[in-house]
Amino acid sequence: MDARDSEPEPFRYDGEVAPGETRHIRYEVGETYLGDPVEIPVTIINGHHGGPTVFLTAAIHGDELNGVKVVQEVADRYDPSDIHGTLVCLHVTNVPAYHAQQRYIPIYDQDLNRSFPGKARSNTAERMANRIYRTFISQCDYGIDFHTSTRNRTTMYHVRADLEDPEVTRLARAFGANVRLYGGGDGGSLRSTATADGIPTITVEMGRAQRLQPALIEKAVAGTESVLAEYDLLPELEPTEPSWITETAADSTKQWIRADTGGLVEMQWGPYPLVHEGETICTVSDHFKTEEHVVTAPFTGLIVGSLENPVALPGHPLCHLLKIDAETRDEIEAEIDAGEFDGYRVWNQDFSSDD
Ligand SMILES: [Zn+2]
Repeated sequence: MDARDSEPEPFRYDGEVAPGETRHIRYEVGETYLGDPVEIPVTIINGHHGGPTVFLTAAIHGDELNGVKVVQEVADRYDPSDIHGTLVCLHVTNVPAYHAQQRYIPIYDQDLNRSFPGKARSNTAERMANRIYRTFISQCDYGIDFHTSTRNRTTMYHVRADLEDPEVTRLARAFGANVRLYGGGDGGSLRSTATADGIPTITVEMGRAQRLQPALIEKAVAGTESVLAEYDLLPELEPTEPSWITETAADSTKQWIRADTGGLVEMQWGPYPLVHEGETICTVSDHFKTEEHVVTAPFTGLIVGSLENPVALPGHPLCHLLKIDAETRDEIEAEIDAGEFDGYRVWNQDFSSDD
């Protein structure tokens, strides 16, 4: 869409944000047991100039904090004079879960990210989802939803998107992440619901829950800016191109490597997330150290997710390995040599995925 010349319009929710205005609002999406409002913090930056409307959402899972910092930074970074279009920043989408610092809505453990688009007269999660979706998301043209891994695991910085949809692929590429994984998205997720409604949406997966990881946050703020450049919300800027990319198709090889025995897990891959076929990923040992099972890479690939809590039962996922071709391997090795991967070292100590 070339919206460069389009007329600016007010953004309407219960109120109205005029072109040229930034507004911080607390928007009521439910009530507590005490009858107090549950309000989500939202920043709307309505540009002086017309253009597309883009949403950013964080903490749909309440303990996934990296995205909260990304949205805070982005919402603070641009003035209406910078923006051709409108930015809708939902800082904390799942407020009850955020209060409890846990993934799900603490009442009945409902997953807000399986509740979209929601219904006005259904359970708590669906009501919240419906308020959010109707008021903010349905008015947008594109969206980025920020996540991290679930607890006890960590995820490599990557984008998940329905890469069979050309509009979604354009958005995923514009974000500039090195790794883009195909996924249609689960039913009721914000990403799959919005995308099905004609609002191309991607998920960004980044690091660990319950942490702020500055190196990843910085990349995601830059990725967001690249998206705004791609769609001419920031017409002076060009989108960024990563030096290497790996993009999976629906039928590509990625595999959860699982434990076949119970025991203590010692991760041995790293410090970079590249493993070659046959290299040791980890060892699972029993407590008498009489049996040690060495787990090796079945193919050359990138470790995009890894267990952190170092105990396993048969069937537990140890790591998520994405197959890469020789050309990508060579590019990654060259970047490792050039020191480009040094910021990724945290993954070894830190480091699966969910959205
Ligand atoms: Zn999540």
